[in-house]
Amino acid sequence: MTAKTLIGQTAIVTGASRGLGYAIAERLAHAGAKVHMVARNAAGVQEAAAKLAAATGAETRGWACDVGDSASVNETFGAILKESPAVEILINNAGITKDGLLMRMKDEDFDEVVRINLRSVFLCTKALLRTLIKQKYGHIVNLTSIVGVHGQAGQTNYAASKAGIIGFTKSTAKEVASRSITCNAVAPGFIDSDMTKALTEDQKSEILKSIPMGRMGEAAEVAALCAFLASKESSYITGQVFGIDGGMGI
Ligand code: NDP
Repeated sequence: MTAKTLIGQTAIVTGASRGLGYAIAERLAHAGAKVHMVARNAAGVQEAAAKLAAATGAETRGWACDVGDSASVNETFGAILKESPAVEILINNAGITKDGLLMRMKDEDFDEVVRINLRSVFLCTKALLRTLIKQKYGHIVNLTSIVGVHGQAGQTNYAASKAGIIGFTKSTAKEVASRSITCNAVAPGFIDSDMTKALTEDQKSEILKSIPMGRMGEAAEVAALCAFLASKESSYITGQVFGIDGGMGI
């Protein structure tokens, strides 16, 4: 039974139609929050919002938005704030990979990964910040990755975007700390999701050897950490990067 730590609170979760984003939205809903779920594909996110409402009884809404696009973010966040003038929680989770060795990486694959993974965090945070500052309360949680801390061959674009999120998180934390707004980053290792389903069995078994716990993580485990960082229980924690990786980063 999830503790009802978020009753009366409203959250926005990006990339919430599946994977970690859906699990985070689900956890926040179980904790009592109203959840605005954002993803690019309209049908996918509407279906996810309906499924979550049916499963939890929580108030949910699905919004189609390209989080890397200024006009799309401003329009969507404007509409969300019209409907829910007080939003206390932002989980910047949407992300993609376009892997390849640096020698062969196309310029557009670098730009697109940085746009969707990093520019999105800037756009979504900025779109909500005035509201959080006025409220003098809020929690921002940004999904980075173990790869943003340690690097990974074949993922220079992804690692750069995720390392950028860490710098963004720490700087935002410093700017807004005096308003009782926290901004933290969560750095998962290998978590079972559509993103990691793309790996071959050989790649997976090679990765498992580097995880002291000997298994992939579950989306619900990441969601529990995000829900803690989105609650009053974490009120004195800001600017931190939390590894959640079965010991992979030790
Ligand atoms: P998935 O690929 O399973 O889901 C990605 C989500 O992001 C989908 O809801 C997708 O919606 C949404 N999305 C993608 N592009 C956009 C866009 N331009 N605008 C709005 N929404 C978008 O990813 P995961 O759940 O695996 O990963 C979630 C986050 O966690 C990512 O930031 C990822 O980098 C990070 N992470 C994941 C790890 C893992 O092992 N899975 C490890 C470390 C970090 P749609 O289908 O509509 O495009």
